[in-house]
Parts: sequence; C-alpha cells; structure tokens
Amino acid sequence: MLSVSEAQSLVLAKAHVLSAAPVPLSYELLGQVLAEDVVSDIDMPPFDKSLMDGYAVRSADLSDGKALLTVVEELTAGQTPKRALAAGQATRIMTGAPIPAGADAVVMIERTRPASDDRVQIEDRPPRPGQNIMPRGREMRRGEIILSAGAPLRPQEFGVLATVGRITIAVIPRPRVTILSTGDEIVDAPEKPGPGQIRNGNGPMLQAQVVRAGGIPQYLGISRDRAEELRSKIKQGLQSDILVLSGGVSAGKLDLVPGTLGELGVQAHFHKVEMKPGKPVFFGTWKKTLVFGLPGNPVSALACFELFVRPAIRRLAGHEKPGPFFVEATLAENFTYKTDRPTYYPAWMNWEGKGYQVRPVPWFGSPDLRALTQANAFIFIAAGEHQLPAGQVVSVMKTEDES
Ligand code: AMP
Ligand code: MG
Repeated sequence: MLSVSEAQSLVLAKAHVLSAAPVPLSYELLGQVLAEDVVSDIDMPPFDKSLMDGYAVRSADLSDGKALLTVVEELTAGQTPKRALAAGQATRIMTGAPIPAGADAVVMIERTRPASDDRVQIEDRPPRPGQNIMPRGREMRRGEIILSAGAPLRPQEFGVLATVGRITIAVIPRPRVTILSTGDEIVDAPEKPGPGQIRNGNGPMLQAQVVRAGGIPQYLGISRDRAEELRSKIKQGLQSDILVLSGGVSAGKLDLVPGTLGELGVQAHFHKVEMKPGKPVFFGTWKKTLVFGLPGNPVSALACFELFVRPAIRRLAGHEKPGPFFVEATLAENFTYKTDRPTYYPAWMNWEGKGYQVRPVPWFGSPDLRALTQANAFIFIAAGEHQLPAGQVVSVMKTEDES
C-alpha cells in the first residue's frame, strides 16, 4: 500500500499553480500569494524626517550639550519648513515633520525647557549628527523592488503596498473547492435524524477546512448512494479546481464513489493509503481538476484533508511550502499505543517555555470527532507497539495556530 509521503507526492505532482490575475488591493487578499515584483514609486521617507517631538538643532551649537537657542519656526507633521537654521537657532518640531535646512539633529522635548517666548534652553548630551532623524530613502528608494513574486500577503505587505500607492495587484487566485457529502444515512443539520440516520457533520467541517487552507468552498449538499444522483452532482463539482467528496470510498455495498468517478472519466491515482485514520482515501484527476474521495468517518475526513487536500489547495494558490507542517514536541505524559499502520493521533500541543509539549487527548477512533474539539494537532506514531515515556520527543502535525 502507498505511504502517506508517496501519496502526497502524487497529489503535488498533479497540483499546478493557478494563473495570476490583477485585482483591487483589499484585505480579502490576506494570505494570497503575490504574482509580481513590486517596485516603489517613492523614496521612503520622502524627506529627512524627525523621529521625535523636540527641537531641530545644529549639532555644532551644542558641543557641550547645553545652549540657549532662538526658536524660529514650529513644524507639525504635514507642514514643510520655511526657515533654514542659522547659528544659534532651533525649530520646534513634531514627530514625522521634515527637518529644516541647516539642522542636523533633533533634541527630544524632555531634554529642553522653554526660556522665554522665542527661546529654548537645551540641556542634553552633545547631539550626534543625524540623531533622531530618519534620512530620506532609508526605508526604501524609488525604483527599488520591495516585494517579490511568491510572497504571501500578510498585514505588513498590505501596508507596504498601500505606501507605494498600489491599488491593483497581481495575485494567485484562491482555489475553488467543491464539497459533496455522500450517504443514504446522512441528513442536514436542521433535521432531526430518523432511525439509522446521522447528521452531516462533514459538510460544514470541510467547508471550514477549505477556508482555513485559503480556498473558496462551494457546497453541493448531500448525495444519496445512487449512481445517477452521484453522477450529476460530481459532474457539477468537476467544474471547480478541486472536488472533495466525503463517504462512499470504502469497500461497502454502497461505496459507489470511486466507480462513479471512473465512469465520468476521472483518472485514479491512488485508492488506499497506509495510514490511520483514513486508509480508504481516493485521489484522481479530471483534466486539471483534483478529485479527493475522503472516508466518511469525520476524523478520517479531517485528517485526510489536512494531509492531502490542504497541501493541494496551498500549491494551487502559489505557496512555495504546501505543508503539512510538523514540529518536534516532548510528550507530557506516558503514552502506550499499538497500531498496525502509521497513525495520526489527536493531541493538544502548546509551547512550554523551551519547546513544544504535547499530550494525546482521549479518543475513540475515526468516528469520534468530538475528541478533536480538545485537540489542535496530531501526534505521528509509526506502526508497531509503543510504550512512550513522558519526555520522549515525538513528531507532531500542526493543524492550526495556537490559541
Ligand atoms: P463511509 O465512508 O460512507 O463508509 O462512511 C463511514 C462512516 O462515516 C459511516 O458511519 C457514516 O455514517 C459516517 N459518515 C459518512 N458521511 C458522513 C458525514 N457527512 N458526516 C458525518 N458522518 C458521516
Ligand atoms: Mg457511506
């Protein structure tokens, strides 16, 4: 049977970055990947500017740090200087205002006191030329490349793009991911399940996972385990970048998903991976569309999504590192576990001063989604019988930021 990493390689080999398009700069692009190099249209700062509220001075006037200076002008941010400083003169200046000609240092207000209407007494150490001044172009120069294609957009990138006046920007679009739940026994959340029925937890869960991965979910609802209904819903789903089905991929009588996908021309790349939970997972392609058949058990569906679908979404969205992301953590308690397959075991991980610590959560197997409300990660455990002592270093798959 295929290993998880072999299966991941097959997925990534079929996942091609989507074509970039120019779009208006908006916070909705948060996390998307820049598709062009960005050049500054200005020097920043555009002028030598004061970093303090205080007095712009000539350092030569303050060789011993003390002087009584004549105040010739007052400048707040947004104003421009009209008076150059001559010997014995100072300009009262606020943070962000341009430095007047002749001045080469700013003395902070706390080191000064007003002496009379137009005089100020400075009592400081001798100022260093350039003190409390940010020179023009220190942050960036006009014509300089300040952001490169491939950069994921974080808040600081938005600030820099606005600073250089960009109102449209080329980015890789978010992948469109269609979600289809399957199963005769599944009813949607508003319904009271009848005998033998359960509610559709996977639909909303997978949509949220798509959003977390940076994609746009489209929900097709539930298909009964009937070939015709599956066919028509799958056809619709194949129009998006990725189609994710849940249920119907195992070996049961009504597990019709792989067969129906095959009839519709979806080329199968794998069906079954050496892992727990999630062994029956299916992956195929139809033209450029990636098709994932996730097992119906909710923890299997969630884990398979994190291991295969999320990296695919990230790759289509242009991220250089598709994940999943693993860190090392020390076990917070003894952990005894026996498994015939490599296992991803729900756990709680947190930063404990020097490193990550991790604790398995009580878990009753692949149907037990509730256990995952107490978890934020999965401990990776190789096949075998393990008696892991507290303090043992283990590999942990991070699925979310700590909170
Ligand atoms: P299947 O993969 O279709 O054999 O389903 C495996 C198990 O997962 C069965 O117990 C199903 O009832 C359950 N299951 C399937 N789909 C869902 C769903 N959308 N939400 C919650 N549980 C599901
Ligand atoms: Mg089923």
